[in-house]
Amino acid sequence: MIYWDHNSTTPCAPEVVEAMQPFWNVDFGNPSSGHQMGQRAAAAIRTAREQVAGLANALPAEMVFTSGATESNNLLFLGVMLSPRTERNRIVVSAIEHKSVLEPVRLLEQHGFELVKLPVNNDGVTDLEYARNLIDKTTLLVSVQAANNELGTLQPVVELAEIAHEHGAYFHTDAAQALGKVLFDVQQINCDFASFSAHKMYGPKGIGALYIRGGVRRWPWAHPFQGGGQESGLRPGTSNVPAIVGFGKACELCGDNLEEKGQHLNLLADQFIDMLSKRFSRAVVLNRQRNSLPGTLSILFEGIPSDLLLARCKSINLSKGSACNGVMEASHVVKTIVDDANRQEYVVRISFGKNSGNEGFEQFFEILNTLYQEL
Ligand code: PMP
Repeated sequence: MIYWDHNSTTPCAPEVVEAMQPFWNVDFGNPSSGHQMGQRAAAAIRTAREQVAGLANALPAEMVFTSGATESNNLLFLGVMLSPRTERNRIVVSAIEHKSVLEPVRLLEQHGFELVKLPVNNDGVTDLEYARNLIDKTTLLVSVQAANNELGTLQPVVELAEIAHEHGAYFHTDAAQALGKVLFDVQQINCDFASFSAHKMYGPKGIGALYIRGGVRRWPWAHPFQGGGQESGLRPGTSNVPAIVGFGKACELCGDNLEEKGQHLNLLADQFIDMLSKRFSRAVVLNRQRNSLPGTLSILFEGIPSDLLLARCKSINLSKGSACNGVMEASHVVKTIVDDANRQEYVVRISFGKNSGNEGFEQFFEILNTLYQEL
């Protein structure tokens, strides 16, 4: 099996699996227990918190473990929902956010907040001029992802954070696709909040974090979840110790040679594009004009419905877009970038990973050309 869908999820690194191992049934204590077994689990969580914070250049106390980026995003917007109503009630997000941002903010809109979506250009980059005109003293929160999961485009988050802060608004970034893949530094971006996910970066599924500048004591709103003191009371519930340990280890590993790993992925993508230009001229690479995640390609194969192509690629695992969107129709991201409804059906996402090589390239182009001839 060849796997080209790393933006959907990644395999756990062997070191991650090994690090998690003792916490299932040997050091299985509840980290909230005062006894020795509990305290060993608590110590492992402290180490993991340092590892996660270290990768993002944050302080350990600024990281709240959650079940993943979906929960981190929801936690933030639920907090906003509980905020006292003032004149500052505008929420600004980009048009191509993940559904775990777009759906909670729609709920905010239903509860009386004003929701504004920032348009993106043809390369999937948020329009900064539009943002400058729109973000003002009525804005409570600006939330723009660090990297798009489908196109891979890196967003101008440093500039957006600056614009938000000029007007006294908070800035949040969904960094599920950025952490561990490109340099992600909360100080450099100067964000107030950021969401992370372990399974996009060779860690386990079902674990992530919400970064809060200044830690939970600086959380500006009421706590949406109640019922325990874990994660400083903001995310109560018995901690998932093995997953937290795995996330910490994954962060430590991803921090090593980040740039070299990115170069390998970029070379692989270049090699693919090079072959594409020779083997199938009727393709448009949607994310080539811009800075994007290393190894992510969004390609429109003119005349080839992606469902058919995916069905033919039996031993090559790739996708139409975000796994979270389901696979029935073109995603909102593709619809934003490609105007023609027919052509929206031709887009495929390829996301290579650190263990990918060029195996499968030849096979892929053969499938592509055979299918094209048939159609
Ligand atoms: N945000 C983005 C940009 C994502 O790509 C994803 C995963 N598809 C998520 C949020 C959700 O992350 P998780 O699976 O950890 O809930």
